[in-house]
Amino acid sequence: MARIFSGIQPSGELHIGNYLGAVRNWVALQGTVDAIYCIVDYHAIIAAYEPSQLRERRREMALGLLAAGIDPEQASLFVQSDVPEHTELAWIFNTVAPLGELERQTQFKDKSQRMESVNAGLLNYPILQAADILLYRADRVPVGEDQLQHLELSRVIARRWNAQFSPETNFFPEPEAWLTPTRRIMGLDGQSKMSKSTGNTIGLLESPEEIWAKLRPAVTDPKRIRKTDPGTPEVCNIYHLHKAFSAPAVVDHVAHQCSTAGWGCLDCKKVLAESMETELVPIRRRAEMLRATPEAVNDALATGAARCRTLARETMRGVRDRMGFD
Ligand code: SF4
Repeated sequence: MARIFSGIQPSGELHIGNYLGAVRNWVALQGTVDAIYCIVDYHAIIAAYEPSQLRERRREMALGLLAAGIDPEQASLFVQSDVPEHTELAWIFNTVAPLGELERQTQFKDKSQRMESVNAGLLNYPILQAADILLYRADRVPVGEDQLQHLELSRVIARRWNAQFSPETNFFPEPEAWLTPTRRIMGLDGQSKMSKSTGNTIGLLESPEEIWAKLRPAVTDPKRIRKTDPGTPEVCNIYHLHKAFSAPAVVDHVAHQCSTAGWGCLDCKKVLAESMETELVPIRRRAEMLRATPEAVNDALATGAARCRTLARETMRGVRDRMGFD
């Protein structure tokens, strides 16, 4: 069975951008592959943070993932810092990773320009990502298009390490991308990717009232000023959310009503809110059950970490042996 690895930062409550861009796909894949899903808390400390909030956010993310449908019987879910081999392998990969390629990473260039003081962790972030994936010798990595450059660097690191320490057997496989089917989800401002730091999200566990309070003013086709103006669905974020949540017949109806000025944007958003409810009600119910039985979250993370530690130690035995540490 092919093995996949994917990680998510403990940013607290899951939002629908996380859900549609990654987690819904994770749920679909579990059981069909050996799925390893990781809450990457070491990645989260690159920016300033409050330790007490990190604890809370890790826990809330785990609860959200389980509520969204990650099944500990079918996938290994764990917290990165519970398997210290991630940082050990990252240090080793520091010694083969090409500095020029790290500096050329688009995310590093974007983020470093916006920061007053840049720490080495921001530059080395993709090295830790490579260690996350290669520690489990994963064959494939479910990713969005914006992560392809980092994944390519993981392949370069695997190739370089293999060439130096395992030229005959290629100990580390070069992981392949498995592109997530849903396109990038834009935020409610319609301007940038949905992200907690931008404040343009809808939380996966928010109530129908909270969701409607956010959907109601959300940006639509900017050229549709009056109800009588025909719109262009493809340029509207609400239409893309319909594509993610509504049945195909509803999506067709939305496109028709929009392009013929058959209804107003509020009518369209009300239908979207109904479609979202169909998918979100069972997720909210599972979250309530998990809040009432916190030991279920602890048990899931402990089981995942125990299995992943065993796999990680096995890989590190092979690494140490080939590098002359044993
Ligand atoms: Fe967007 Fe719907 Fe308004 Fe068209 S009718 S612009 S798809 S919200």
